[in-house]
Amino acid sequence: MAADILIHNVRPLGADPVDILILAGRISRSPTPTGVPVLDGGGRIALPGLVEAHTHLDKSLLGLPWYRNEVGPRLIDRIENERSARKTLPIDPRQQSERQALLSVTHGSTFIRSHVDVDTECGVAGIEGVMGTREALADVVDIDLVAFPQSGLLVRPGTVELLEQALRLGAETVGGLDPCAIDRDPKGHLDTVFGLADKFGRGVDIHLHEPGEMGAFSMELIIERTIALGMQGKVVVSHAFCLGMPDASVVDPLLTALAEARIAIMTTATASRPVPPLKRLLQAGVVVCAGSDGIRDTWGPYGNADMLERAMFVGQRYNLRRDDELTLALDVVTEGGARALGLANYGLSPGCSGDLVLVEAQTIAEAVAQRPGRRTVVKRGRVVAREGVVEAR
Ligand SMILES: [Zn+2]
Repeated sequence: MAADILIHNVRPLGADPVDILILAGRISRSPTPTGVPVLDGGGRIALPGLVEAHTHLDKSLLGLPWYRNEVGPRLIDRIENERSARKTLPIDPRQQSERQALLSVTHGSTFIRSHVDVDTECGVAGIEGVMGTREALADVVDIDLVAFPQSGLLVRPGTVELLEQALRLGAETVGGLDPCAIDRDPKGHLDTVFGLADKFGRGVDIHLHEPGEMGAFSMELIIERTIALGMQGKVVVSHAFCLGMPDASVVDPLLTALAEARIAIMTTATASRPVPPLKRLLQAGVVVCAGSDGIRDTWGPYGNADMLERAMFVGQRYNLRRDDELTLALDVVTEGGARALGLANYGLSPGCSGDLVLVEAQTIAEAVAQRPGRRTVVKRGRVVAREGVVEAR
């Protein structure tokens, strides 16, 4: 549902005050027609809707009793723990995804990419649950689904067929996971993932936690396949911890190759692992986006779905202190996300979708550093959250 609204007295990205007119869901520079509802911006900063570029809506424990985490330290411990926890905890993907999506909206996200588990135990139940939420919240937030083989792809026979089913049901993007470390068959894993993407005409978004040389090897295979299939601009590598290794003689050629293949990098700016080098990525011309990853789930207790806070984490992790540097952090959770996910008509210019968030701050740097609350969020010209509370469903 697209609406009309005149947002009076707001400062686009911290610039001088203006009125922003949204007609039929799009930002317009036409004269304001009579009868258009007016929202008083009160001199707040208007940001384009924040982009949550990587989360897991299907398995958050938001709203459920506190989960006592006693999980082992390895990735495989967390994967196996989650599969068994799903049998005992009341994790209904439909309900949990709606809870988290609405929390995202109150913080100003107007677009969410969710990886959704597909495996031989849960099948496509997670996909169906998140699709239910997507439909229920269609006027509030856009949600894009990645069919994600969390438990491995080739190591668990039957998973490839389930991914195909998920794509036929309506998942937009093909997921993948640590081709060497989980499937132990990098060529087979990536040929399958890219084969599905090619067959269904979809993009790819791969979780790549593999460190150092191992991750660099997987990254090279991803780049090769992206170019071979003409999928430039349609591939995201999430985490990419291998790019955080210190050996520039390995990393720098990868950055150049990623830019040429127009592969985007998603970072959570985690404090606990090496992270891809933000400024060198941007200088090389690589698009960088950010995400919350799991929010309060069996993997970890953290997260609040606030992408402005994620921008602050980006600032802290990458030692961004100057005001111009904090603008880079905001870019990662706005324009960077939009470019990585291929969102059309994104921004605050005439013709763009009328998705924005009003934030009480003097400057972009203050907005990132202080993450003011009580935000007002507009989706396609409709106020969906006011003063930090969901208004319209
Ligand atoms: Zn993830």
